[in-house]
Amino acid sequence: MRLQGKTVLITAAGQGIGRASALACAREGARVIATDINPTTLATLREEAQAIETALLDVRDSEAVRRFAATLPPLTGLFNCAGFVHHGGILECEEADWDFSFDLNVKSMYRVIRATLPAMLEQMKASGQAASIVNMASMASSLKGFTNRFVYGASKAAVIGMTKAIAADYAKLGLRCNALCPGTVDTPSLRGRIAAAADPVQAEKDFIARQPMGRLATVDDIAPQVVFLLSDESKFVTGQAVVVDGGVLI
Ligand code: NAD
Repeated sequence: MRLQGKTVLITAAGQGIGRASALACAREGARVIATDINPTTLATLREEAQAIETALLDVRDSEAVRRFAATLPPLTGLFNCAGFVHHGGILECEEADWDFSFDLNVKSMYRVIRATLPAMLEQMKASGQAASIVNMASMASSLKGFTNRFVYGASKAAVIGMTKAIAADYAKLGLRCNALCPGTVDTPSLRGRIAAAADPVQAEKDFIARQPMGRLATVDDIAPQVVFLLSDESKFVTGQAVVVDGGVLI
């Protein structure tokens, strides 16, 4: 049980990578508090793993995040997973698209970390237990540019910068902060992006073609990395952009 004794909060845990990570953390013995804005997927998660606690949380709502944080037990792990893929280049990105992407992909993490960090630090001081934050970035970020990922790439680059800044500020106290940078992962929202393409069959082939391992990642390729980064196995790892991309960045 690699997360025995840990208490982990996960955002966007209703489906995709967040859900798989919630299940993986629970299997490894963590107390998991899984949040999302979608009550239906949270209900099915709870059915699938009754030990997982679930709560509705819109990470774009500062007041709701503050209120929710005040109800939490002290955390030893936080996985900020919420994010949105805007499709298009700069000319397809209106100011509202920019603001939405930065709000959901970046500012939400600032909100959740700022609201939960004081209790995390207090808990660390009181118990001597280390804590770990994992922020969801992407290979499409400061690591590599992709077509039609203008504001997505910019926002995920900001996640990496924010992660490194937090890692630098709190390394001495033993709080770690890392960013996770997956390649293309087969999740409900990816299926939506494929279905929305002019030629969905070709779109799926194109996503696969850019991954040297010749397939899409599954959520089970990514969740073990979340477990690793939240566990004490990674206790000397901080400020890193951890790439799990089937070789795209080779
Ligand atoms: P997804 O996009 O299929 O699901 C997203 C989840 O976020 C949904 O459950 C949704 O209800 C929730 N959500 C949306 N707005 C929210 C809000 N305001 N507050 C709380 N929850 C909200 O899941 P996914 O594809 O696994 O993506 C999860 C994260 O992984 C995102 O940050 C995404 O950018 C990142 N990522 C995904 C891929 C990929 O190929 N799927 C690759 C790299 C990074």
